[in-house]
Amino acid sequence: MTTVLRTVAETRTAVARARQEGLSIGLVPTMGALHAGHASLIQAARAETGFVAVSIFVNPSQFGPNEDFSRYPRPLERDLELCRQEGVAVAFVPDVETMYPPGARTYVEVEGLQDLLCGQSRPGHFRGVATVVLKLLHTVQPDRAYFGQKDYQQARLIKQMVTDLLVPVELRLCPIVRDKDGLALSSRNQYLTAEQRREATVLYRALRAAERLIKCGEKSPGAVEGALTQMIRGTPGAELDYAAVVDALSLEPVKVLKGKLLLAVAVRFGNTRLIDNVLVNA
Ligand code: AMP
Repeated sequence: MTTVLRTVAETRTAVARARQEGLSIGLVPTMGALHAGHASLIQAARAETGFVAVSIFVNPSQFGPNEDFSRYPRPLERDLELCRQEGVAVAFVPDVETMYPPGARTYVEVEGLQDLLCGQSRPGHFRGVATVVLKLLHTVQPDRAYFGQKDYQQARLIKQMVTDLLVPVELRLCPIVRDKDGLALSSRNQYLTAEQRREATVLYRALRAAERLIKCGEKSPGAVEGALTQMIRGTPGAELDYAAVVDALSLEPVKVLKGKLLLAVAVRFGNTRLIDNVLVNA
């Protein structure tokens, strides 16, 4: 049974009761439209904690003015069914006024990290993400919180925030769940036309090709970024936002391909922006 809670007070009470029963608490923050990627996070949380809370909140402050906030899918009943099937104890489903009390004017900025990669084409996005995740962590006060590698920059930034602001939580990074053809599962995939859906496999194909180049000894970031760019630009309907090879910790460009690297791409198909990445040890 999944209990649906709408307020911070109710959620804190439910968590406090679970703690009294000796259970450890896991939090999986989501924007809903849940799929097997989200389910994998819930399963990781279930494996490690006794009481799993899933938050479902489409966070307005992480969307730009021309982005998809209003049309973002909100299939709440289906989401709750998945939560029930996956043994989620509590679904925290606040409304906007709960997360942003009238007059709210406090935001979290993770300097530097928030401006790189996705931050360049989505100014303000990570400020919204960091702010809402801190509020969710304050609400649930979990022992562990679970994030997907799919949004690697987000996970990296949250880790920095948790360290910097002394938040007592352990973070887990879970692997990317993909469709059979390699496309990373995303709530936004449902925006794609059948043709765009076919072409969208280029993200992972390009990343894998770039990974192979590095494994074969390529040392030049420019050469690998060039290969990524060429594959994506050569795909009908694909508009490249960025293709980058960066240090996996700082997310900054590297001079030579060595150590732990993140290969990351963002590509638009019409109005739909998709991201994907792979981590490579060089
Ligand atoms: P979202 O609902 O898109 O905000 O995502 C909520 C969480 O699920 C984030 O930590 C995402 O990184 C994670 N997630 C989204 N898609 C996937 C996927 N395909 N595989 C693993 N985790 C994912």
